[in-house]
Amino acid sequence: MPTLLLIEDDDLLRDGLCAQLAQAGHSVTAAADGEAAQALLESNRFDGVVLDLGLPKISGMDVLRWIRQRLPALPVLILTARDGVDDRVQGLNAGADDYLTKPFEMAELQARLGALLRRARLPAFGGSLELASHSARRLRVDATLPQAWLGDEALELTQREWALLSLLVTQAGRVVSREAVLETWSTEPGDATAGVASNALEVYIHRLRRKLVDSGLNIRNVRGLGYMLESTTP
Ligand code: CA
Repeated sequence: MPTLLLIEDDDLLRDGLCAQLAQAGHSVTAAADGEAAQALLESNRFDGVVLDLGLPKISGMDVLRWIRQRLPALPVLILTARDGVDDRVQGLNAGADDYLTKPFEMAELQARLGALLRRARLPAFGGSLELASHSARRLRVDATLPQAWLGDEALELTQREWALLSLLVTQAGRVVSREAVLETWSTEPGDATAGVASNALEVYIHRLRRKLVDSGLNIRNVRGLGYMLESTTP
């Protein structure tokens, strides 16, 4: 059962959402302010967070930034006020995965939460979180879009570099064969570009290594076998 943390200071809304999300099969824990939320996040593991931005004590935006520093892969859906375009943009820039504008339909919240949780279960997320947690600048790879971040900084990646990085992160600590990479790259079996890509693989690895400088991660060349993403920090 997915575990959710709901952070909302409006008692009525919080109780209503709690009941409905529980009915929809989630295990819900609720917090009425940012301080309580942080305490819960420090001592529990959640699969996702629903975060109201307008909160007492610690603002929702600060809670969001706090979450992103500590739990880069935790899915967060923010609730914003109507017409709060600035909030929405700021929230997404601060690392929210999705947003809903109040008032919203319960069905939409559930659909969006479902999508978020599904995406988060893709292996690239889990891999990136665990491996990168030793480093000051965490690597986070989006599992569906060609995007990745080192800390707060977006990496400039081509589609192929992202596909390669996603694969290495998913298999972190294990050897990824050249064939596996080429298979990811080819859009169809027997793709005509595969031969070109094979020669180019070294170049892509080299480029990725440069982009991962200071990340605490290294792509090791395992002679005769392939490549392995490993942590350079103990
Ligand atoms: Ca509020």
